[in-house]
Amino acid sequence: NNIERVQKIIANRGAVSRRRAEKLIEEGRVKVNGETVKDLGTKASTDALITIDNQPIISDDKKYYFLFYKPRNVVSTMYDPKHRKTIADYFKNVPARVYPVGRLDYDVSGLILVTNDGELANFVMHPRYEFIKTYQALANGRVSKGQVKQLTQGVTIDEDNYFTKAITANLANYNQEKDESIVEMSIAEGRKHHVKKMLEAVGIDLKKLMRTKIEDIEIGDLRPGEYRSLTPHEIKTFY
Ligand code: URA
Repeated sequence: NNIERVQKIIANRGAVSRRRAEKLIEEGRVKVNGETVKDLGTKASTDALITIDNQPIISDDKKYYFLFYKPRNVVSTMYDPKHRKTIADYFKNVPARVYPVGRLDYDVSGLILVTNDGELANFVMHPRYEFIKTYQALANGRVSKGQVKQLTQGVTIDEDNYFTKAITANLANYNQEKDESIVEMSIAEGRKHHVKKMLEAVGIDLKKLMRTKIEDIEIGDLRPGEYRSLTPHEIKTFY
């Protein structure tokens, strides 16, 4: 990131003119990363969090691309009328209007892209492009080879008896003590509750679902509630 004078960054973000920004700084109304700036010579990183009267000055010129590990019990929108925890709660320090690309159910954890790049969001969400998403399902009981095979051979879901197949599905583990199975599967589609309905269609009793991979991008060292920037190479996955 570049380092520039604060008034220049504000002007570049299109909020107010540079002259006006200088005046606001002199009036003590500008903060950079939470600290009031008084000196017109102060420099900051161009992606610093800057506020005027405590309102963030955001820019949609600069594009941000994040990989977020959504915890369970978080809504994958930026606002929830029911005031539950949303993705916005995790991105307060990003000076742009970012939003999640697609959805994960409230009770599903795992990877979701968060960006302010509308073009990328359209690519990823459009059914035509079929990005592959991988899920790990924790299920009650012993899942059979036949059930897993059925996922790849295809099942029908929804009122319209929509036929859908997993690209891959395998039984990753069976824990005898807990009587729980782990099934890994990948799909390229994304109807509402898609994976849950597929598992239900083959009689798998789901306990927990997590998205572990989007195309080749894996969860890695991220922990629930954490995010990281996509690398330029990863961004190219979607363009
Ligand atoms: N499939 C589901 O059932 N839920 C999700 O959140 C994602 C895929």
